[in-house]
Amino acid sequence: MADQLTTAEVTAVLTAACDAIVAAKDRLTQADQAIGDGDHGVGMARGFTAGKQALAEASPGSAGEAFKAVGSAVLATSGGASGAIFGTLFRAPAKVLDGDTLDAEGFASALEAGAEQVMRRGKAQVGQKTMLDALVPAAEAARSAVPDGLTATARAAADAAAEGVERSAELVSGFGKSKSLGERSVGHPDPGAISVSVLLAAMADAIDAS
Ligand code: ADP
Ligand code: MG
Repeated sequence: MADQLTTAEVTAVLTAACDAIVAAKDRLTQADQAIGDGDHGVGMARGFTAGKQALAEASPGSAGEAFKAVGSAVLATSGGASGAIFGTLFRAPAKVLDGDTLDAEGFASALEAGAEQVMRRGKAQVGQKTMLDALVPAAEAARSAVPDGLTATARAAADAAAEGVERSAELVSGFGKSKSLGERSVGHPDPGAISVSVLLAAMADAIDAS
């Protein structure tokens, strides 16, 4: 249980998040086969394998640099919509994090910056069955939990993302490859929302163990 992480600990937390996406590859593939083209698991696994490698090679000097190393690698290697979306998500925190530690305030700000940049670049809104349906509630839950410290903030974000995944199943797709399915997308959670939930759960677990 840490209430402030060093850059080395942030690097370890992000490495755990990369590992969790790689481990979830088949689940993400199946989710995208249900309402998309089936490439989400392969793309995310490729991107976050490169993200982990970048963390190992870059020796980030700050928390922001660590996030950015992952984001740049994902952007360069993932492909598909999710390469740009998840690359943007991880590159955004570098703009708001300063210094070599990460606390609850920084964690909430990182998620808010990520959500803001994803919405700016991708032009989707909450309720359209995208990863934003997990990410935006996660950022809001993180902000509310800041007074309780980093461990609680990360857990609140992970829990809200998991609830967002459940809710995304009930939504009609308004964006991306699943849009053409319309009502037929109902009953299936959004693959990108699952990815957000997997990333945040792994980060919460790793922060808990720090
Ligand atoms: P592609 O749609 O190119 O096949 P992926 O299957 O890897 O890419 O990723 C699909 C996921 O990307 C969706 O489940 C959704 O969560 C996310 N996504 C797609 N477009 C957007 C967008 N404009 N904004 C936010 N998320 C998006
Ligand atoms: Mg796809």
